[in-house]
Amino acid sequence: MKRLLYLFIIAGLLAGCHRTDPRNPYNLPIANTIEIYQAQVAENPDTELVDLQEIIPGIDLFIPYATSQNFTGVPIYTSAKAFLCKPVAEALATAQDSLMKIGLGFRILDAYRPYAGTLYFYKVYPDTTFVANPAKGSIHNRGAAVDLTLIRLDTGEPLTMPTAFDSFSDTASHLFMDLPPEVLENRALLRNIMETYGFSIYEPEWWHYNFRNARSYPLRDVSFEELMNH
Ligand SMILES: [Zn+2]
Repeated sequence: MKRLLYLFIIAGLLAGCHRTDPRNPYNLPIANTIEIYQAQVAENPDTELVDLQEIIPGIDLFIPYATSQNFTGVPIYTSAKAFLCKPVAEALATAQDSLMKIGLGFRILDAYRPYAGTLYFYKVYPDTTFVANPAKGSIHNRGAAVDLTLIRLDTGEPLTMPTAFDSFSDTASHLFMDLPPEVLENRALLRNIMETYGFSIYEPEWWHYNFRNARSYPLRDVSFEELMNH
């Protein structure tokens, strides 16, 4: 009986150790190896993280998290890449086709983000309005959210939006109306095109869009390099 009690204590301690895994301190169901990721894709091909540059040739990528020019002050990604789950990327490709007819295109600012990035963001800026709660994970960790703006295809110049990316201010909200008419129109244009193709807004950030059924895609902590090499 006493031995059984010891066994329970040891099992409890081991479970406790598992919960404090620094890469997954909230013990979320995260695919954190390429093998787990590949098994998920084999089971459901829609969960494949695809390279946006392959799905939308010529797509404009401007990824602040691959540079030190972001709110953390250090590069979070080792390469300026954008991955999204396949149906999300395909919806964005159809939206871009439609935009091109009026001489516009997307500029992608961020897409899939490994969970390690979400953990680090919260450490730097522990405010869950603008940074995802690491206890839940971000829709970006699921490859089902995208941060983006619009550019003119002839000049490559971005359309004027209410704020810079990641401004973390009230002005970034869709509810903020005290802006020049042109800026309101640009924000509405982006919203309209995204909603038409299955995305929905995140009210506090004009640049962030979630794809439909976003939480049905799994949380991942697989690096861009691992994705590129497999
Ligand atoms: Zn976002």
